[in-house]
Amino acid sequence: MLERLNKDLQALKDESMFRTLPDVMVQGRFVVAKNGRKMLNLSSNDYLSIGSDETLRQEFFASNSPEAFSSCSSRLMSGFDACTCSLESTLADLYSKPAAVVFNSGYHANTSILPAITTSRTLIVADKLVHASLIDGMLLSKCDFVRFAHNNLEKLASILESKHSKYDEVIVVSESTFSMDGDVCDLRALAGLKRCYNNVYLYIDCAHDLAVVGKGGLGEAERQGVIDDIDLLVATFGKAVASYGAFCVCSQVVKDYLVNKARGFIFSTALSPLQMQWTGFVIDKLASFDCQRKKLQSNVSHFLGRLKEKGLQTPSSSHIVPIIVGSSEQAVKKAELLAEQGFYCLAVRPPTVPQNSCRLRLSLNSAMSFEELDNLIDIL
Ligand SMILES: *Cc1c(COP(=O)(O)O)cnc(C)c1O
Repeated sequence: MLERLNKDLQALKDESMFRTLPDVMVQGRFVVAKNGRKMLNLSSNDYLSIGSDETLRQEFFASNSPEAFSSCSSRLMSGFDACTCSLESTLADLYSKPAAVVFNSGYHANTSILPAITTSRTLIVADKLVHASLIDGMLLSKCDFVRFAHNNLEKLASILESKHSKYDEVIVVSESTFSMDGDVCDLRALAGLKRCYNNVYLYIDCAHDLAVVGKGGLGEAERQGVIDDIDLLVATFGKAVASYGAFCVCSQVVKDYLVNKARGFIFSTALSPLQMQWTGFVIDKLASFDCQRKKLQSNVSHFLGRLKEKGLQTPSSSHIVPIIVGSSEQAVKKAELLAEQGFYCLAVRPPTVPQNSCRLRLSLNSAMSFEELDNLIDIL
């Protein structure tokens, strides 16, 4: 077996697709490499810089002391944690939904919810660019699934029209802000399509816009006014919320069902109480991060505007800005060049993105200055 593994690894190396763990240390909004080089971190999902906010951290520790570091079992056994339950009720209230379920991660959520709620008489229809965790969730589901061209709601409409009557139910799976292209889904149009049928449901992964967008920080679903239309809204705490874990807001029936059937919920140790306290602390402040949201928004407008001026192409309309460079080799070279100039970003290559659309994925955050962004553009 080792021989085969080695051969596969060599093939990856030959195609500039071999991955290694980066040897860098995060220091606030910078990363520091082994050789001492300090680089602006463009690979962080800490979009509102909550994770590097010293004041916030001090405030948290002044009012919270960890009851325990481990929850010692899954939530269905003794991993019951008052913080998690109160967080679930806070989330349900924020979204004005009957219920919320906390999962250990977005990966746990997406790989366990879809297999739990589907049967062989369900059809899943998913955007071509949904996150790997959603694809794995579909592969684990014992139902048919089809994918439609990215953000092409006409294609989706024709699939729904021709297929909906052949299945008990159809679940449309998409993302509000796409993690690789940084473009935003027209959730209103999606909701409009769903309303044409009585057996179509919406499952939307909002990982990248929770806290970042919307008056209350509830994301694109809030900004576009479609929270009511989304049957299962999933988002993660590991991005702008600067914690770890994920949740799904849904109906009480779906929650009860997930607690009974979602394997990633049942067969995994609950998140640590300390982690849940921090998550709850940040979620309680969600509406108050308006200043950071505005700063990030102005960074995004500035950066996208300058890219356009320079004729650089990106599909993005958000804080996630991929610069498409083509081959794996070119992407890796360009990332190295940027590192030399003090900008840390990674080349995203297959299988994460399709062949020949390798990219530098730049994540902007609220702590970056226009000057830093201008310098970056000059190098790009
Ligand atoms: C990051 C991400 C996930 C996975 O969440 P984790 O909590 O990191 O496991 C799921 N979906 C999308 C769209 C993501 O960007």
